[in-house]
Amino acid sequence: MTRAGGRLAERGPVTIVGAGPTGALLAILLKRRGFEVIVYDSRPDPRIGPGESGRSINLALADRGIHALQSAGVFESIAGELLAMRGRMIHQRDGTRSLQPYGQRPSEVIYSISRERLNRALLNVATDECGIEVRFQHRLERLDAAGGTAYLRDVGEPRAGGYLSVALQPLLAADGAGSVARRELAAAGLIAAREDALEHGYKELTIPAGAHGDFVMEPDALHVWPRGDFMLIALPNTDRSFTATIFMPKRGEVSFDALRAPAAIERFLRAQFPDACGWMPNGVAEFRDRPTGFLGTVYAERWNHGGRAALIGDAAHAIVPFHGQGMNCCFEDCIEFDACVAHEATWEAAFERFFAQRKPNTDAIAAMALENYHEMRERVAEPAFHLQQALALELERRHPQRFIPRYSMVMFHHEIPYRVAYERGAIQTRLLADLTVRAATLADIDYARAAFDIERELPPIRAYAPA
Ligand SMILES: Cc1cc2nc3c(=O)[nH]c(=O)nc-3n(C[C@H](O)[C@H](O)[C@H](O)COP(=O)(O)OP(=O)(O)OC[C@H]3O[C@@H](n4cnc5c(N)ncnc54)[C@H](O)[C@@H]3O)c2cc1C
Repeated sequence: MTRAGGRLAERGPVTIVGAGPTGALLAILLKRRGFEVIVYDSRPDPRIGPGESGRSINLALADRGIHALQSAGVFESIAGELLAMRGRMIHQRDGTRSLQPYGQRPSEVIYSISRERLNRALLNVATDECGIEVRFQHRLERLDAAGGTAYLRDVGEPRAGGYLSVALQPLLAADGAGSVARRELAAAGLIAAREDALEHGYKELTIPAGAHGDFVMEPDALHVWPRGDFMLIALPNTDRSFTATIFMPKRGEVSFDALRAPAAIERFLRAQFPDACGWMPNGVAEFRDRPTGFLGTVYAERWNHGGRAALIGDAAHAIVPFHGQGMNCCFEDCIEFDACVAHEATWEAAFERFFAQRKPNTDAIAAMALENYHEMRERVAEPAFHLQQALALELERRHPQRFIPRYSMVMFHHEIPYRVAYERGAIQTRLLADLTVRAATLADIDYARAAFDIERELPPIRAYAPA
């Protein structure tokens, strides 16, 4: 069994499985580097016919994703589709709402983008500009990494059923959170991987445009209805609708399992989200009929087998969606992977370098995404949290080289690795808690002590240059 992969200088053929955000961007980057790239995806071409259903309709795109798309020269093709969201609009049960800004500079916003339009734009660049062959309706079914062959099935009519064997020269698996490639590598004992399911799931509901074709609420915010053990969020769409997502336990007293009868669903929506309920004419039917989506985190202790096969994107490290970073992280993967390819002489060395560099960062964002669920559904409604948020922004104003709120480090600073954001964030959380113990407002804060603690515990972030 040979474990060494081909030499990168030969620019041999590369197979990518998955034409989602990761596979499409990766294909573009590798093709531009001179590789012969062929992509397979089990779905039909999303640019033809009805779109995918059941997955989130829109996504939050932030600095890391934008920077990656810019580096790959594809940002311009989607720039016109973005809707800026400048903060969280918190909706209380009594109908009052208040904006919690995400940052303090005009550029510190995140963007809502249609998943489908983004995927189509990436595929257009891949096929039309780069001349990459994408073969849809081909599903990876077996990966014999030790033997050096992948088996894909043609699932498109009328050819359905035909098998194709592909040599691993290498194969890059961007086949998403439920990756067949990852499961095959794990089943063969070549990597160790686990999928930690969250006890909560999600369903998408639609808030259509109002009677006059307008947005029914502020379009420049990500709307959140925090309710303790569950929450509703909504992101704007360019057709002036919102896509709302309800996250809640799958089982238990208040859960998807318990809420099945239309009358019970209606009572629940009216009691918990009175304003949103009035904007969702099909809310009850959608809640009843739409599938409950799975949420979980993927941890893999290796992402490659020699130089033959490697996992990338959600296939390697899917996370829960509460930081709005999954796809952003995947785009960052592609740029870092491309840089590893540029640095190394063999595929195996590139895969190893990528794993060593990237894994501490993907572990960090996985942890922060889980922590953010607690923050979004519960803490955002607490006065203590508001004070700490306001203090974090104030400390950033006073110490911009040393104190950057963790949310801002993750969302607005691609030059700060996730691992650094996580580690500095833990120190900052402790400082914020200590400084606000006896404070009711910002005027009560001991800023001299804050300055002392910050200088002692948070070295300057040298790469950071404020806009
Ligand atoms: C509810 C929800 C909300 C989210 N919101 C955000 C957000 O706001 N911001 C953000 O950054 N991220 C968000 N994410 C995460 C984001 O969707 C993922 O990180 C991203 O889609 C991963 O891209 P990928 O290409 O690695 O995988 P995928 O998007 O899953 O794409 C995988 C591709 O592989 C194909 N495929 C799968 N299996 C096979 C097979 N066996 N053979 C061939 N092809 C196959 C699929 O058809 C698909 O095209 C969210 C996720 C969820 C679930």
